[in-house]
Amino acid sequence: MEAHREIIRCRNFIAGKWESDGEREIRRVNPADTRDLVAIAPDSSAATARRAIEGASRAADGWRRMIPPERGKLILRAAQRLEAAREEVARLLTREEGKIISESRAEVTRAIDIMEYAAGMGRRLGGQTLPAEVPGVFCYTVRQPIGPVAAISPWNFPVAIPCWKIAPALVCGNPVIFKPSPLTPATAARVVEIFLEAGLPPEVLSLVHGGSEVGTELVNHPLIAGISFTGSTKVGMTIHAAAARRLAKTQLEMGGKNPQVVLRDADLKSAVACCITAAFGSTGQRCTATSRAIVEAGVAEEFTGMLVERTRAIRVGPGDRPDVEMGPLVDEVRLRDVRGFVARAAEQGARVLTGGAEPQGVGTGYYYEPTVVGGVRPGDELAREEVFGPVLSVIEAPDLEGALRVANGVEYGLCAAIFTRDISRAFAFIDRIEAGMIHVNRPGLGGFSHFPFGGLKHSSYGAREVGEDTVNFYTDIKSVYINQA
Ligand code: NAD
Repeated sequence: MEAHREIIRCRNFIAGKWESDGEREIRRVNPADTRDLVAIAPDSSAATARRAIEGASRAADGWRRMIPPERGKLILRAAQRLEAAREEVARLLTREEGKIISESRAEVTRAIDIMEYAAGMGRRLGGQTLPAEVPGVFCYTVRQPIGPVAAISPWNFPVAIPCWKIAPALVCGNPVIFKPSPLTPATAARVVEIFLEAGLPPEVLSLVHGGSEVGTELVNHPLIAGISFTGSTKVGMTIHAAAARRLAKTQLEMGGKNPQVVLRDADLKSAVACCITAAFGSTGQRCTATSRAIVEAGVAEEFTGMLVERTRAIRVGPGDRPDVEMGPLVDEVRLRDVRGFVARAAEQGARVLTGGAEPQGVGTGYYYEPTVVGGVRPGDELAREEVFGPVLSVIEAPDLEGALRVANGVEYGLCAAIFTRDISRAFAFIDRIEAGMIHVNRPGLGGFSHFPFGGLKHSSYGAREVGEDTVNFYTDIKSVYINQA
């Protein structure tokens, strides 16, 4: 463990000024070493959130008047600033969230790529020119900002997710109030500093630390035009119901229960390697994590044997050690949840094939072994619920038809993967799988920085994030008809 023991004091950033909330505080420890207090941040009140909303509302008019290419240039500068701070931000992310340092570096790179893409939107924010229905009319559509936007984010990608909300929201001309997860206040504060260091007008980006009290105020306040939320399906649905009462726009990215289907003609070695990456990367704490390996009869035994052997070899420990392959869970609550899922599955007759316990001698963090569970039936809790930890169920299916039935038999539909050498079966899977992101013969994770990110069913709602579609959330369209006579 590195000797960086500085306690980071986080403040809110409201109407262009750093300030404290005063009363309650959030204390965030390093999940890899609970003796390391990383950050103290305000656990802000609804009244503080209200001041931030009013500040953002005052800034809205000036910001929408800045021409979009100029707004884009500021975001490009922020991307360059983040590039310069890449290693420092990655180290902070590992210390606060727990993921291994190579994953933190990859996350920062992803944030930079997305910001660069969003910066270019400043020159692409066009409408359409279409033919008129009657002679003598010139008609077109134009996009305009929606107004102050709340960006409510989870802890598991505390750099990339805030950046992929804040950057396009700002380029589209909306002031942003960012409410990060209370588990990652220091990383959130660093993200905001980077935008400010790039020369962003300070009043157009606010940061309010806290939990559901701040979130609820943002969702209910009449001056907030849109809520871009990433987090659990339960909270997402609550937000959507509240926002619907006042017709505020929502963009919701939520949970997943992602399958990897392995057919009998697959390259099993590659299927196993990709499954390990997708299931245990980020300690399984990814909305896109593979949590079900659905394997065609005939290769299930061989696949499972290889999978278990590879899983046993994963080195668990603090994320800042170069030889470590999987870090801790984010906190005690997550650890307790994961333990509970595995214990209940075992009680219901499933077999823990490897893992299923806290590793010994790793340190004072929230560690859990990478775990493979066999004998899971499609209707079992472990096969249906999002675990959000390093737990992979193996489920056998008779054929592609049966695999699709299992894969689609859950309420989520975020991403999915298939391993096969048969192009017809791959296309049949692409056609029928209920998922928003599909991978063939590669790990079933998210995607590229210019592709829509999101899912179907209870995994997502509203315009997709990342890619061009996100403009549909952050802008309104006006149709204009001009009589030329
Ligand atoms: P969470 O739902 O507990 O919290 C997410 C955010 O919402 C936090 O900032 C939290 O403080 C805030 N919040 C909580 N209650 C609120 C309320 N009533 N009103 C407004 N805001 C409220 O989720 P989490 O534990 O931070 O993150 C893990 C979840 O996020 C998992 O379910 C995971 O699948 C999901 N996730 C989804 C994606 C995606 O793009 N689909 C990406 C990452 C994580």
